[in-house]
Amino acid sequence: MRNRLRFAPSPTGELHVGNARTAVFNWLFAKKYGGALVIRIEDTDLARSDSRFEDLICRNLKWLGLDWQEGPDCGGTFGPYRQSSRTAIYARHAESLLEKGAAYRCFCSEEELGRQAREARRAGAARKCPATCRNLPAGEVAQRLKDSRPSVIRLRVRSGKIVFQDLVHGEMTFDGAVLGDPILVRSNGMPTYNYAVVVDDGLMKISHVVRGDDHLSNTPRQVLIYEALGWPLPVFAHLSTILGPDRTRLSKRHGATSLRHFRDEGVLPEALLNYLTLLGWAPGEDQSEILSPEELVASFDIERVSKSSAVFDIHKLYFFNRHYLKECEPSRTVEWAVAYLMQEGLLEEVDSGVRQWVGLVVEAFLPGLDHLSQISRMAPQLWSFEAERAVQDEGVRQVLSLPGAARVVEELRNQLSREGRDVVRDWSSIVQSVKAASGQKGRKLFHPIRVALTGKDSGPELDKLVRIFEGGSQLELPRRIKDCRERISEFHSAMLSHGPKPDH
Ligand code: GLU
Repeated sequence: MRNRLRFAPSPTGELHVGNARTAVFNWLFAKKYGGALVIRIEDTDLARSDSRFEDLICRNLKWLGLDWQEGPDCGGTFGPYRQSSRTAIYARHAESLLEKGAAYRCFCSEEELGRQAREARRAGAARKCPATCRNLPAGEVAQRLKDSRPSVIRLRVRSGKIVFQDLVHGEMTFDGAVLGDPILVRSNGMPTYNYAVVVDDGLMKISHVVRGDDHLSNTPRQVLIYEALGWPLPVFAHLSTILGPDRTRLSKRHGATSLRHFRDEGVLPEALLNYLTLLGWAPGEDQSEILSPEELVASFDIERVSKSSAVFDIHKLYFFNRHYLKECEPSRTVEWAVAYLMQEGLLEEVDSGVRQWVGLVVEAFLPGLDHLSQISRMAPQLWSFEAERAVQDEGVRQVLSLPGAARVVEELRNQLSREGRDVVRDWSSIVQSVKAASGQKGRKLFHPIRVALTGKDSGPELDKLVRIFEGGSQLELPRRIKDCRERISEFHSAMLSHGPKPDH
């Protein structure tokens, strides 16, 4: 039979790094070893579940590049794919477990159970559930039901070893004696997680359960439920916990971890997919970690999934993102950059000329960006040019104190003010003339040019910046952009009045 995998999110919040990584590993497994991926929505916690989250989770999985063959959005042979629509199925199987004697009704109230548990603890008993109702005579059960006494349905846990295979952890063995009799169906008729998950995985013919290792301790109970139902066990693969940099479980305390956050920030889906795959898995020794989705599928090997915890390193994610941003089609990055600039009110109307200009901005700034939304923080450097402030900046002053720097600025101003010069077209000959007239070269030439042009001592390549200033001033977009001539002449005057004293 074909492999069948599933990703089973609870729609109680946004998709975050941890469950996205689980989804990715299920997807990779299905693609690599051939099989179907099922999305199942685990919404039995009615108070916390919200269909808005279901929608967001599915949209973010698609954005990440994942696809699935069965799920609430596309249907399939084994539906319905939302647990809230499957209550009759859970009830039917619970009935059959009661009939077989594999489960029983328990009438103990919460308070009663609490009292019994305290007593058991005092007596040093390991069993978590005292199982008072395990052996109630059938007549007594019928009478209590007739009296409408609330009850839950519990599994009759057998004693002895519970063994299952885990592709990551190897063979796992637990002792049934310490488990207690888990609740399968609550008094309100809703199934518990352990019960619903087994009924669903069994009926949906799931062959491999790949999920976070926070569920490892649930698995022995689930194994017993499979046994009670008389169903074969799937193979399990429990993925390691994801930690924050301080090596505690990754959570909101470590900063934003939702996919939506990274998406809004301008992290490319291919970068995130690539990075998530490396949380608990590594390609072969001679292989690069930068892998396209196709390469990831080709190199994925469940045997190489590690059981030790993975640390989520935002800098590494941004490293991947920088790589993918550089590889990305410019039309894609420009569209995003336009959206970010508009969102911040930095652009108003966008026609093809403006798009072209944004293309120049993206080209110049992209090599220094971790994620694309930074463009709207970087781009204002282009028009927030205040020569008087700039000449007092520490880094700029240092550059201006270099021998010959003031002369470079002066020559640059002279060259630019000559008639008939086209700044963009003639930029390299302008620089050559400044070089000849000032007698400076290398950083002693380029640093003063940079500070005079941008008011900053570092930033994108100069010839790219020149094209942006000229393009922006011609388009009058944004209106505050000054052309190179104007900027440099303002800078020159500010330097003479407030800057370090020229050395010539
Ligand atoms: N709904 C569970 C969760 O979000 C998934 C459990 C499972 O995969 O078995 O943690």
